[in-house]
Amino acid sequence: MIPRIRQLDEGAVNRIAAGEVVERPASAVKELVENALDAGARRIAIEIADGGRTLIRVTDDGHGIAAADLPLALSRHATSKIDGSDLLNIRSFGFRGEALPSLGAVGRLTITSRAAGSAEAASIHVSGGRIDPPRPAALRAGTVVELRDLFHATPARLKFLRSERAETMAVTDAIRRLAMAEPGVAVTLRDVSDGGERVLFRADAADRAARLAAVLGRDFPENALEIAAERAGVRLGGLAALPTYSRGTAVHQYLFVNGRPVRDRMLTGALRGAYMDVLSKDRHAVAALFLDCDPVLVDVNVHPAKTEVRFRDAGAVRGLIVSGLRHALAEAGHRASTTVAG
Ligand code: ADP
Ligand code: MG
Repeated sequence: MIPRIRQLDEGAVNRIAAGEVVERPASAVKELVENALDAGARRIAIEIADGGRTLIRVTDDGHGIAAADLPLALSRHATSKIDGSDLLNIRSFGFRGEALPSLGAVGRLTITSRAAGSAEAASIHVSGGRIDPPRPAALRAGTVVELRDLFHATPARLKFLRSERAETMAVTDAIRRLAMAEPGVAVTLRDVSDGGERVLFRADAADRAARLAAVLGRDFPENALEIAAERAGVRLGGLAALPTYSRGTAVHQYLFVNGRPVRDRMLTGALRGAYMDVLSKDRHAVAALFLDCDPVLVDVNVHPAKTEVRFRDAGAVRGLIVSGLRHALAEAGHRASTTVAG
């Protein structure tokens, strides 16, 4: 018997997509906070319980969602951020229209929103892919997205979660990265497990330098070099620590491309290369580096989680990082290598 081909239903498609978009609570938090930022929020409050497993709630003061659009927000590949004609010109965090339908497929999701200029708020609920019709709600402004019991519909994924502590740390890390990317936005992260309230992270609106100090520690800027370099239309800025301020792990390396926190092997490899002559193998540089360029020079549509990027001219970007950092290190007297060229 030849197996017949059939179309998967939307619920199955969303659960499959969720596997890529929502690996763990931290990825859900990242998607929700990015949505708040895309909505122009100036204040974002995040609450989690049990490492985000039982509750993630993100409250923002952004432009909100029109009540009539709430079902669309839960529909796959529906987005207000691009029109699909130019995938090379992406200026928002989101563009795939996948996060909310994916979260609704693997958790119990409630979105309450009041669109700017609208007299009323509305809310919509989806659980295990089943969407209830929207109904009137009470909210002064902005959007509240509440995700309960993440992965209750996919027990296999639930088993892969680490300890509550580890998941909480991953959430905190995701928030720190986004907080560095958007210094002008006030951000608080609270652990509300067992009815308690513990602040895990809090930063008021600030400029970039103040935000970096708030996130990475007040002594970081004093121990870091200011980086400014440019090559092939790509600008590099930020702070890179002196070799004496290195760490035993690479967790304090923060890289941003056009304001988007990324985890990219080419970029971390370039960072390692820049410090090669001044750090031993078991030490890792501390740095917050910002790369900015015309969006057409970098593809962010590499993976559903959008944390990887592909530069059109990767060699030039690598060279920019290596030479930009080596130059700054050499100026500061850390000339371990005879050349400063990348
Ligand atoms: P994407 O961000 O890729 O567009 P999402 O599934 O994350 O896809 O969100 C779908 C749509 O819902 C967004 O395009 C946006 O219009 C709307 N939306 C989601 N979260 C918010 C929010 N916090 N404030 C305003 N609109 C939102
Ligand atoms: Mg999104």
